[in-house]
Parts: sequence; C-alpha cells; structure tokens
Amino acid sequence: MENKLDKIVSLCKRRGFIFPGSEIYGGLRGTWDYGPLGSELKHNLKDAWWEFMVRQRDNIVGVQAAIMMNPKVWEASGHTESFTDPLVECKICHSRIRADQEEEIKAHEQAHKNEKVEWTEPKRFNLLVEAKLGVVEGEKSTIYLRGEITQGVHVNFKNVLDSTRVKVPFGIAQIGKAFRNEITPGNFTYRSREFEQMELQYYIPPDEKVSDETFEYWKKERMNWYLGLGLKKDKTRFRQHEKDERAHYARDAWDIEYETPFGWKECEGIHNRGDWDLRRHSEFSGTDLSYLDQETRERYTPWVIETSGGVDRALLFFLLNAYEEDGDRVVLKLHPKLAPYKAAVFPLVANKPELVEQARRIFKDLKFKGLNVAWDDRGNIGKRYYSQDEIGTPNCVTVDYQTLEDETVTIRDRDTTKQERVKIEEIPQILAKTAI
Ligand code: ATP
Repeated sequence: MENKLDKIVSLCKRRGFIFPGSEIYGGLRGTWDYGPLGSELKHNLKDAWWEFMVRQRDNIVGVQAAIMMNPKVWEASGHTESFTDPLVECKICHSRIRADQEEEIKAHEQAHKNEKVEWTEPKRFNLLVEAKLGVVEGEKSTIYLRGEITQGVHVNFKNVLDSTRVKVPFGIAQIGKAFRNEITPGNFTYRSREFEQMELQYYIPPDEKVSDETFEYWKKERMNWYLGLGLKKDKTRFRQHEKDERAHYARDAWDIEYETPFGWKECEGIHNRGDWDLRRHSEFSGTDLSYLDQETRERYTPWVIETSGGVDRALLFFLLNAYEEDGDRVVLKLHPKLAPYKAAVFPLVANKPELVEQARRIFKDLKFKGLNVAWDDRGNIGKRYYSQDEIGTPNCVTVDYQTLEDETVTIRDRDTTKQERVKIEEIPQILAKTAI
C-alpha cells in the first residue's frame, strides 16, 4: 500500500505544490522547486511566522542578511571545524551514509541481505557548501554558502543596536535560505541540500535563571504556534537532546518533533547558545560586541536563546498533518491561514453569461479585498469541489440561478461539506472570519 508520504509527493507534483529540482535535466539530488500552489503555501507559512514572532511583539526586529559571507564568519562560528556529520561507506557498493542514522544503516544492510555488509570507520564530513567568488581566474576566493542563517544575525548585532532603540532583552528574527552538503538527503523535502530556515536569536543578560525562564517561554511559544496552525497535539512532542548530541555551542537543546510516516522527526530546535556567538565574533573580528546596560552601567556579552525552524520541514509536516481521505475524496485540512486559496468562486454553469458575469464580479471583488481566491468553471460542481478539497481551499462560493433573483450564493465548507445560502455582501466577512 502506498504510504502517506508517497501520496503527498504525488499530490504535490500533480497539483503544483512541489516539483523535483531541475527535473527536465534529470534533477539535482536534494533540491526542490515550489510550484504555484507551493509558493502560496510557503508565503503564507512564512507570513504567519513573521506576524507571530516579529510584528505582534515590541522587542523583536527583523533582518535579511546576505547568503554569501566573509569566510572568517564560519571560522568564528566554529563551522569550518565542527559542522560535521559522521560518514561511513559501504565496502560493497561504496554508498555513503550518516553513521548516526540507524534506520538508513538498517535499510542498507537489508538491501544487501545475502552479503555481509562491512562499513568503513566513521569519518567526519563537513557539511558546508563551497563556492568560488571573483572574476579573475586563479584569484577567485573560496567562500561558503551559509550553513545556517544564524550568523547573519549575530554579525549585525551592533548594527541593529546602533540603528534602533532595542534594549536587552530583545530579539532579531530572520527567514532565509541555508545550504548543507547533506550526506543522505531524503524523505522528500525533509532533508534537502538547499532549504529555508526561520529563526529568532533572542539576546538576554548572562544569567542562569533568566536564561532558563526565557528558554521555557520560547519553548511554549513555539509549540503554541505549531498547534495554533493545526498540528495535531498527539503527533507533536518535545525532545531534549542528550549531552553528546548537542551542537558545539549549545548549553541546552530541545527539539519540537512531529510523528511522520518515517518516524518522530525534528521540526524545530530551541537552543541555549550562551555567549558563544557574540564572544567568538568579537574575538575573530576585533569588533567589540558587548552590551552596556544603560541603567545598571554593567557591560556584558549577552547570551542567546535561539528558536530555529525549517520552513520546508514545517510545510511538509503541515501537509502530512492535513491529508485525509474520505472515500474517493482527498482533502487537505490545512488551517485557512495556510491554505493557498481562501475560497474558490464558481458560476454554476459556464455557458450562462449572466451567471459567469456575476461570479466574475464576486471573484474580482474578493481579490481586490486582499483574499487570494481561485476561479473554476470547468466540469460539474461536484468535481470542482473535489478539486478544491484536494488543495485545501476552505470555502467554495457558487453563483446559481437563485443568485440572479435574490443576490444570494451558496458557500460550501471544505471540512463539513455543508452548504449555506448567504447574501453576496456577507461573503467577505464570512471568509475573513476563518481565513485571516
Ligand atoms: P538534523 O539533525 O535533522 O540534521 P539539525 O539538528 O542539524 O537537523 P539545525 O541545525 O538545528 O538542524 O537546523 C534548524 C532547523 O533547520 C531544523 O530543525 C530543520 O527544521 C531545518 N533543517 C536543518 N537541516 C535541514 C535540511 N537538510 N533540510 C531541510 N531542513 C533542514
């Protein structure tokens, strides 16, 4: 039987959510392209994050740093030295696998079931992706495409302090691309070589108690964000990292995990980074990144609590979470905030100009009011409903003969499939109630 992940992969391709990267050239492993519906969904996801993390708070501001950075950044951050995964190679077929991924190791041994698999000793493999920058042959410099978006924030700590009125405690948020030479990309977009992250770096005084309280606060906030957008509670959990599992900078680390068809998997990490980043960048750049508390006149290097989520992973988990089958009806029960279209508008039939014109007016009016709506006048109404259910559109508005008499339409709800007759002028409020 096809599992849910396979169904999502084929739905994503069929309806234009996600395509394999560079597909017509045979693809490029670990890369994915978002199609028309996928781009809408991704925008909505990032907007929901930005709204919740930045715009609704008065001590968090945003930045968008360059992807290409001075290579010294990655020395300071420890990535050139420690951003590694353990790699083992199968002595039979020379496949390379992450030594710490038990399931992949087992699957590989299973594939060679009649031979005795031997692995090479684990080697540390650096995940940074190199690029050559410059125009003079022989003088091009080697740089790294950023392996995490975090450092673009920390190198701007002083710029943000000097150009805004923030005071510790405050946070800097960023959404953007990161690149990793993953040993085994896979499970659709779950582990890619190019992906997006959404992160908060929250600066606090260097104090154990403050850092523990702040850590707890952000753990709760982040979990509430996922649950608020519909992730099922019984499929979502926290997991604390073991000491030997933590990144080189982390004093404490917890993951928010989701139960996928391929096991419980990390969606986001919440980390106590201590003063690692600002201290190291001060040392390596020679720029003082300490902070002067204006009231106590105390000078210190702030500690950092980080929330680091993957946009693509969250998007995949929201899709898996939303997917349901009801007989031959496939429905994506996406939260209306995330749904690519907030509604679809149909004329009952396509060959009655009065119906089409009225439906067209409603469609344009809703678009003008800022609601992303779809238009469909093909086939019969039942098929159109099914087609919208499959992409998660929460409401379908149908203009029929009665509309011409009394200015009412039907609104059909994706989750209950119930229809209600309402006045045309009420449509925007009804949609806004669920969609915004
Ligand atoms: P993993 O253990 O799965 O490799 P990680 O612990 O290295 O992930 P972090 O460095 O903490 O991940 O990155 C923060 C977030 O970025 C992760 O929680 C995840 O959502 C996302 N992320 C990391 N690596 C990838 C990847 N290769 N593809 C897609 N998203 C990723």
